[in-house]
Parts: sequence; C-alpha cells; structure tokens
Amino acid sequence: MKNHTAVQRRLLARYGEIQDRLARIEGDRRHTGKPLEQDFEEQAIEVQNDEVLDALDGSIRLEMAQIQRTLTRLEAGTYGLCESCGQPIAGKRLQALPHATRCVSCAEAAPTR
Ligand SMILES: [Zn+2]
Repeated sequence: MKNHTAVQRRLLARYGEIQDRLARIEGDRRHTGKPLEQDFEEQAIEVQNDEVLDALDGSIRLEMAQIQRTLTRLEAGTYGLCESCGQPIAGKRLQALPHATRCVSCAEAAPTR
C-alpha cells in the first residue's frame, strides 16, 4: 500500500488556503454597499462585480468538495481511481491535480461537475 501522507498534507494545506479565500469573499459580500475601512486587498476584491464573486465562490466550493471527497477516498484506499470508470488516474495528472477524482478521458467527456 502506498503512503499518501504527503498528498494528504498537500490537500489539507490547499483546503485551508481556499477556505480562507472563500471566507474573505463572503466577508466582502456582507459589506457590500456599506462604507468601511478597507485594506488594499479588500479594495482589490471590491472592484470585482458580484458575478465574478459568484463564479469564484462556486469554483472554490467545487474544489473544496472535491478535496473532501479525495480525503475520504484516501482513507478508504480508493485514492487514484477514477470515480466514473474505476480505472487508475495517471500519476502525472494526480501530481498536477492531487484532488482529481476522475481520469483524463472522463474529465474531458464531462469537464464540469
Ligand atoms: Zn475515468
């Protein structure tokens, strides 16, 4: 059995990172329309419109869900197998995208999910 500790650490780090980003986006939304003191980063976020925030929000949530699934799969011992067809996901793909839940051919057949 392979040791997945490094992958797990990487996923958890990534999860924390995007969770923070999501919290900042939601915080920014709550303040919309109200005058407030802002640091530079918040101002930068505010110039983006709600549509952009929605899209960003959605993609972060999707990635968070994927990471959670991947962590579950690590524990279950099914990490690295495609969710759709059950074939092993290429090592290169997993290196580039540790939370990939589907192999290249399945992901290309239905890119968004
Ligand atoms: Zn597949």
